[in-house]
Amino acid sequence: MQILDYAKEEQKKQEDQKLWDKVINYFRKRSLWMLHYCTGCGAMELPPILTSRWDIERFGVGPMATPRQADILLLTGYVSTNTMKRVIRTYEQMPEPKWVLAFGSCTVNGGMYWDSYNTVNNVGEYIPIDITIAGCMPRPEAILDSMIELMDMIQRGEAKAFQKYKENYSYYKENQDRLFKRTKPVLESSALRYIHDENGGEQ
Ligand code: SF4
Repeated sequence: MQILDYAKEEQKKQEDQKLWDKVINYFRKRSLWMLHYCTGCGAMELPPILTSRWDIERFGVGPMATPRQADILLLTGYVSTNTMKRVIRTYEQMPEPKWVLAFGSCTVNGGMYWDSYNTVNNVGEYIPIDITIAGCMPRPEAILDSMIELMDMIQRGEAKAFQKYKENYSYYKENQDRLFKRTKPVLESSALRYIHDENGGEQ
């Protein structure tokens, strides 16, 4: 019964989508730029999907060098605390609508680095993730599959995790602050203070 209700709700959402939204979403999903920002081993799977064997360009997906013109942020594996700061900054520089794909178990629970002192365990607590791809590391087919799923979500107007970030900003910001506080004792250790004083206040 619940499944039927869900299906009806989905159908209604589709019908409510205005024609113009459908057209925009169609072109949007066929012109996606992925930012070159790779955080872990999953980055090794990008050359195969970009080159002739899997050739993701045939779907209109291409690489982009700067966050200000990118649509998709790829988190291709484990993220350290310091990298997380750059990931957040990069994500916030990207224009909306924007989407995040997270590769592998490291982005969900830290993977094999789950008990490391400086590896982020669940990236989704700090920025919103649209799709998580299973595997360590995910196969190119899985990445291609997730791209196609993302395109379908864009067409249906459902890929809206970036709105969650704005609506629940205090939740994400609190988590980010808590995470970054963990590195503070190291950065403010007496050894670093000594170097700082030795340099006459310059670091
Ligand atoms: S999930 Fe596996 S392949 Fe991906 S970053 Fe972690 S260890 Fe590397």
